[in-house]
Amino acid sequence: MDLAYTPEEEAFRAEVRTFLAEELPARLSDKVRGGRNLSKADIQEWQSILSRKGWLAPHWPAEYGGAGWSVTQKFIYEQESALAHTPPVIPFGLNMLAPVLIKYGSEEQKAHWLPRMLRGDDWWCQGYSEPGAGSDLASVRTVAVRDGDHYIVNGQKTWTTMGQHANMIFCLVRTDNSGSRQQGISFLLVDMTAPGVEVRPIITLDGDHEVNEIFFTDVRVPAENLLGEEGRGWTYAKYLLTYERTSMAGLGQSRAALGWLKQIAQKEKANGVPLARDPLFAARLARVEIALANLQTTTMRVVAAAAAGGAPGAESSMLKIRGTEIRQEISSLTRRAIGPYAQPFLPEALEDGHNEEPVGPDYAAPITPTYLNLRKLTIFGGSNEIQKNIITKAILDL
Ligand SMILES: Cc1cc2nc3c(=O)[nH]c(=O)nc-3n(C[C@H](O)[C@H](O)[C@H](O)COP(=O)(O)OP(=O)(O)OC[C@H]3O[C@@H](n4cnc5c(N)ncnc54)[C@H](O)[C@@H]3O)c2cc1C
Repeated sequence: MDLAYTPEEEAFRAEVRTFLAEELPARLSDKVRGGRNLSKADIQEWQSILSRKGWLAPHWPAEYGGAGWSVTQKFIYEQESALAHTPPVIPFGLNMLAPVLIKYGSEEQKAHWLPRMLRGDDWWCQGYSEPGAGSDLASVRTVAVRDGDHYIVNGQKTWTTMGQHANMIFCLVRTDNSGSRQQGISFLLVDMTAPGVEVRPIITLDGDHEVNEIFFTDVRVPAENLLGEEGRGWTYAKYLLTYERTSMAGLGQSRAALGWLKQIAQKEKANGVPLARDPLFAARLARVEIALANLQTTTMRVVAAAAAGGAPGAESSMLKIRGTEIRQEISSLTRRAIGPYAQPFLPEALEDGHNEEPVGPDYAAPITPTYLNLRKLTIFGGSNEIQKNIITKAILDL
């Protein structure tokens, strides 16, 4: 299999680099590089720059406003943007819901919701998980009961990422209890400004407000917000998850983080020599760099197979496991590299306008919060244990 890029693909990479050099505001890339907190406005600013360029929804078909890129172009773009430290694109609407709408939504739903995503009119969040329904998603208990031309929704969702900024949530809800657990699930689009929706923050180990609990009390949802057919939500949910997992290897992010770690390992010293030359530290650094190089080759094999018409199946589980383990190891080594300066926790140092004397090196403040935050990688998007189950069934045939 040929893993080299074609001259056209190299030209595309150059085009992406030029665009990023000219259009990515330094204020935003500095924040991302420095591990400081991004506001909703920061993320929206970058999304609207991408939207103007026509690159906000690269994987959508061109007829809906997508860029119409090949799998390889999308891969190149993701690598380059991670290395340039762009803010994230919020995936819930653009990357997860949109493919489901395009495949299963009505023409009216597509015409209404897709242009709104490209314009940034809605901020979507994902209402799958509930207390008791995480890995075992078919246990969802949030109920939607049909009442004329509405559904009445009652229940609770949890771990809702960025739900505090969202005005729309797509939810798995139970519309029937009579058949198998998977049969009675439906997929509803819920307006979070409707009466009866309550968002409560969950503060994570790193002190950040990234996830939420969402409570629904007699929330009236127009029946036209049912996606596809009632009771077929499980099919749509699984289709959405294939999109959620394919981009979770975080290769570009790991390459950027490793580059940063190597710079720190030159600055920080152990016994008078740079950490990069300390035998124990250097060995761990080399091990993770080799693992990342292997992941890159494997990812490119999967991308090449997909570009040739294959659909990534259990391979995306494999990439998710290795990608998230490697990203965590890099953050763990970065934390070790700054030694005792990993201890002070100054959340205010991650906010705009902070100008106090840093404790330790000026790059130390975000390192421990980032390490703690990234513990989530092996849990969300389907925990790594669950991905291993998928591999044993789909690849090893056990
Ligand atoms: C930071 C963060 C953000 C998230 N964002 C969202 C979001 O925006 N929207 C959303 O809907 N959800 C979100 N989630 C939820 C996430 O998808 C779930 O946490 C995840 O699916 C695991 O479910 P659980 O937490 O209920 O754990 P459980 O399912 O209770 O699992 C607990 C442990 O048991 C293991 N386990 C469970 N079943 C098996 C099995 N059959 N075999 C082997 N091991 C097993 C798990 O791997 C895990 O280690 C988020 C989670 C986190 C941490």
